[in-house]
Amino acid sequence: MVATPLPSLENHSPGHICPFDQACSYLEWAAKELKLDQGVVEILSHPRKVVTVSIPVKLDNGEIRVLAGHRVQHSDILGPYKGGIRYHPAVTLREVSALAMLMTWKCALLGIPYGGAKGGIPIDPKKYSVGELERISRRYISELIKDIGPSVDIPAPDMGTSAREMAWMMDTYSVNVGHSVPGVVTGKPVSIGGSLGREMATGRGVMIIVREALADQGKSLVGVRIAIQGFGNVGCAAAELLHKEGAKIIAVSTGAGGVFSPDGLDIPALKIYAAENRRSLVGFGEGIPISNADLLTLDCDVLIPAALENQITEENMSQVQAKMVVEAANGPVTLEANQFLADQGVTVLPDILANAGGVVVSYLEWVQGLSYVFWDEERVNGEMEYLMVQAYRRVIQESKARMANLRLAAYTLGVGRVARALTDRGLYP
Ligand code: NAD
Repeated sequence: MVATPLPSLENHSPGHICPFDQACSYLEWAAKELKLDQGVVEILSHPRKVVTVSIPVKLDNGEIRVLAGHRVQHSDILGPYKGGIRYHPAVTLREVSALAMLMTWKCALLGIPYGGAKGGIPIDPKKYSVGELERISRRYISELIKDIGPSVDIPAPDMGTSAREMAWMMDTYSVNVGHSVPGVVTGKPVSIGGSLGREMATGRGVMIIVREALADQGKSLVGVRIAIQGFGNVGCAAAELLHKEGAKIIAVSTGAGGVFSPDGLDIPALKIYAAENRRSLVGFGEGIPISNADLLTLDCDVLIPAALENQITEENMSQVQAKMVVEAANGPVTLEANQFLADQGVTVLPDILANAGGVVVSYLEWVQGLSYVFWDEERVNGEMEYLMVQAYRRVIQESKARMANLRLAAYTLGVGRVARALTDRGLYP
């Protein structure tokens, strides 16, 4: 096990946007606006704990492979660490560190009593069998057994993981400690204490934020042309809910490319097609094939990047035609692109607000589990909607008060709350 105070284990190639450096520049941006003490900024620039474990796994063909598994705990000033676990080939320690920091601000912005963490394994889950994925997930969590727990650090699904992996992780943790601990993860199946509404929660939160932002412009969702990059947990749920509300989803994509139809796609049919074709849209009968790069610059009203970070950068920002960009993914718009788009009058709804629906329902799942009282889906959705709309309104208000764009407003609220708590708690010893 390697534990270092700084995620400096890897170098990023020149020209590549380092996600952790980018996360730190967002922090510095907000800190400058808030006139924070430099010592506080220094503390918040460093994750509290960085762990990398080795995961030896026996493949189905008998070969043994050793994978790396990361978990970064950024801050627990406001409560237990909280954050997803990502299985994707592009996972690096710096990316996980950046995402952990983002979680801290997101939970603070939403007013939920959690800190920020993130985990990840650099693998393409599509290249492993279900049995191999189960062995990887179980070994990863057993290596982290002393670092997680329902009042310590509570993982959840992220890219490449779902309720299935959470069930394996909850079971592994429970077997190791000798009793059932449902609260160690969220986003688990309902049969073992998961919350109704969790699966669709991030997509539902995205839909709520788009709806609120359009309403502020005197528009409704009906007929609004939306392009969505990514058709996984988040992108697919957002597409389905927005489509149900009357929006026209003109394009969706996965890593292998997407489909475009100016008249709007049949989202329920696409959802079934993706489920039957290992989440791929290639070969879907309707619409015109479109690349991910072209999707981002389509003529549309709302663009929702719901896949990876750094999708709208200095290279393509001037070609973006959408009037509203909603960050369903974490970090899809770079700092430079955010400033450029905001200056062009494009409404950019930042990730720490737009994709917070998932962590909000994770929190509601945790609350239900701790109180042994489980709610119906209507109540879960209602509580989530309330928290999302309140946070949206706070961001709008902050943006007006500071004459700042929405990202800076969201960050000043999130960072400001953590900084205040840090100052109130004081520094030990
Ligand atoms: P997922 O694995 O379910 O889906 C990801 C989608 O992105 C898939 O359709 C995949 O094909 C596509 N994709 C992968 N590589 C791509 C590429 N190079 N170009 C274009 N598309 C690509 O993941 P998810 O859970 O939907 O997460 C998506 C984003 O949302 C991530 O940034 C994640 O951190 C963020 N997020 C997820 C949740 C959640 O509850 N799952 C919550 C908050 C934020």
